[in-house]
Amino acid sequence: MLNQKGGVGKTTTSCNLAAGISEEGRRVLAIDLDPQAHLSLHLGVDGETVGTTVYDLMVDPDADIDDAMVQVREKLWIIPASVDLAAAESELAGLPERNDLLRRRLEPVLDRFDYIILDCPPSLGLLTLNALAAVDEVIVPMQAHFLALQGVGQLLKTVGLVSAQVNPSLKVGGIVLCMHETQSMHGREVVGEIDSFLAEAKGSGVPWDGATVLRPAIRRNIKLAEAPSFGQSIFDYAPWCPGAIDYRKLAQRFIASWERGAEGSTVETKSGPEKAEEPSRTIVDPPAKSPTTAEPRTSDADS
Ligand code: ADP
Ligand code: MG
Repeated sequence: MLNQKGGVGKTTTSCNLAAGISEEGRRVLAIDLDPQAHLSLHLGVDGETVGTTVYDLMVDPDADIDDAMVQVREKLWIIPASVDLAAAESELAGLPERNDLLRRRLEPVLDRFDYIILDCPPSLGLLTLNALAAVDEVIVPMQAHFLALQGVGQLLKTVGLVSAQVNPSLKVGGIVLCMHETQSMHGREVVGEIDSFLAEAKGSGVPWDGATVLRPAIRRNIKLAEAPSFGQSIFDYAPWCPGAIDYRKLAQRFIASWERGAEGSTVETKSGPEKAEEPSRTIVDPPAKSPTTAEPRTSDADS
């Protein structure tokens, strides 16, 4: 999940798409690449106390990836982040292999999972480059505003430039519209503009050739903003609220299109995980419905 803007729905989508896909019986690994560690907290894991984090994997060649994967639901694991991840950018800047560290770390565990979802920080620095080098597809969460649309055009061009260097087969899978106002005329116009921007790219060979606005758009729903402070996905917190319904459909359609696409091709990460060894640490019970922080984080977006 990539967008250099903060507050657009990357973490909410990473968490709830990962949880939604795992509820459909697929094995999912979520990776928190943002030093703010919101994805970790959203899934009930405190990166500051947990032991091995994504920071350790990136800076310490002796850190064991099995120690970093925390099982949080039946088929869902997370590699958490901690605030020291912010230092990784400068600590790793001198290494020639700095953009490829995460990809190499993940390689040995790829066949244990059906999907791996990475939540990027709101910047295009070294952490994001590591994500771009490691993945098959970029998904861009955004809000349907005119200015956001301009930002996405620039972002897609950057993805094009970067991918040419670190990951030539990288594709933009699509755009997820977050906090969508279904009633707003402006929103509908912007969606129309994104649709035609993407349609123009068809056949051009750019990384966003073939990308679409993924449906459904995720409606603005206060439950989605409340769930993180309980360390719960929307499926734990309010499984039939509009936000859960939207993310469930998105997960189902995402699986359907990805697996249809993978049938004819040789996508490595799709191999059967059955025989796989279980990653080690587990916190499988969804945490109780009490806030994990004294002050629940809420969205100013809902006022
Ligand atoms: P990012 O990771 O891009 O910074 P977040 O996923 O953290 O963005 O979302 C920013 C804020 O908006 C958070 O408080 C989140 O709970 C809230 N939010 C995200 N999606 C929705 C939605 N569909 N409805 C209501 N609030 C949302
Ligand atoms: Mg975030």
